[in-house]
Amino acid sequence: MSRRAEWLIIGGGVHGTHIALRLLDAGIDRSSLRILDPHPRLLDRWRRCSATTGMTHLRSPAVHHLDTDPFALLRFAGPARHRPVELFSAPYDRPSLDLFNRHADALIGAHALHEAHTQGRARRVEIHRDTVNVQLEEGDDICCKHLVLALGVGDQPKRPAWSESLFSGPEPTVAHIFEDGFTLPETPPWRRVAVIGGGISAAQVALRLAADPCVFVTLISRHEPRPAQFDSDPGWLGPKFLRAFVAEHDLDRRRCLINGARHRGSIPPQLIRTLRRTIRSGALRWVQGGVETAYSSPHGVVLEGAATTPVEVDFVLLATGFEARRPGGALVDQLVADYQLPCASCGYPAIDTNLRWHPRIFVSGPLAELQLGPAARNIAGARHAAERITRVSRRRDPATPRRPPHVSFRPTTAA
Ligand SMILES: Cc1cc2nc3c(=O)[nH]c(=O)nc-3n(C[C@H](O)[C@H](O)[C@H](O)COP(=O)(O)OP(=O)(O)OC[C@H]3O[C@@H](n4cnc5c(N)ncnc54)[C@H](O)[C@@H]3O)c2cc1C
Repeated sequence: MSRRAEWLIIGGGVHGTHIALRLLDAGIDRSSLRILDPHPRLLDRWRRCSATTGMTHLRSPAVHHLDTDPFALLRFAGPARHRPVELFSAPYDRPSLDLFNRHADALIGAHALHEAHTQGRARRVEIHRDTVNVQLEEGDDICCKHLVLALGVGDQPKRPAWSESLFSGPEPTVAHIFEDGFTLPETPPWRRVAVIGGGISAAQVALRLAADPCVFVTLISRHEPRPAQFDSDPGWLGPKFLRAFVAEHDLDRRRCLINGARHRGSIPPQLIRTLRRTIRSGALRWVQGGVETAYSSPHGVVLEGAATTPVEVDFVLLATGFEARRPGGALVDQLVADYQLPCASCGYPAIDTNLRWHPRIFVSGPLAELQLGPAARNIAGARHAAERITRVSRRRDPATPRRPPHVSFRPTTAA
């Protein structure tokens, strides 16, 4: 079956959903908007990943959410003097996950955005003179005038090489916490669990498991806890750092700036304090060192590293984040190969200031990093992306660039 849409967004996560809401707010009719996502409902991956960690509050402040008005979430929470204290957490008024999700549900409901959702996965994109045709793995296709790629990195959880052998076999003894299809059971069937990773999600999952008196948790991290409130300095959300970033025309140097600005594997100070308290209480063991090999033993799995004594557990949970490579897999590889879409040498799109990769194709999230900087993947990045894309959508023909892209790039297609 073939469908038509003026705007098609591939990806119904935080980014795709927010961009859709902004397009509606800019006057695009819901009947001419489509969101393609393989999950049964919008934000499915966000809900699953955030629930798995056991996080109670977001890392980002209350002004970062899916509505257009930055203060909408605070209003949604009700008058300050009547709000239950747990709705926001200090510092920076970070909203509870439950409040954030209820607000997102209310927005989706109020705009009947679920009606714009087509469940499916894009397999191939063909660009024609006036349209873009997206073929779905399910066999249908959707023809649109403007395409937004809001794919996220969720399809590429990072599995360390040493863990591969544990994934094989009829009963794997390892899982990545963000892998599609993985849900951490309320009552884990394991007595001894190793959580691998040094960032916020590893700490949260370890604490979630440690709350169960029947589970003994070993958190294995390569480094000491690295304190940072946010995953990059808030200066990256505005002109303080972004001005110099966009003034840099060499995309390789922009990539270096992004890498240098990210607080990779960092944990907010308040969570480090909880972690330390739990370690002192004996409910959680923390081991510093890198795992190099893993093998099955008669009693479970043994993890070994040069700098650590072997650790034996029943199950290994990887909280090792996502692969650094360009997201989008074969779909984006095909687009680049067939239409010579420009890429920096890191493989990421070389886009114009309006996040346009091609007159009819916009990007958001990690794919927009070389314009939006290190916060591009976050909720704040979704807000920035949506602002720029909708600014263009207001033009009579959004496919016509007002001026040529102000970027210099080496036209290599290496991913
Ligand atoms: C546990 C966790 C907590 C976080 N907390 C915060 C926070 O507090 N504040 C903050 O700012 N950021 C936070 N982030 C970072 C970021 O905001 C989230 O990861 C956010 O969900 C990213 O949204 P997204 O839409 O880019 O990606 P996703 O949620 O992964 O959505 C992308 C969607 O695109 C779909 N897709 C991919 N390829 C295709 C295809 N070919 N066809 C159709 N659909 C496709 C995927 O299936 C997916 O549903 C957090 C991240 C995690 C993992």
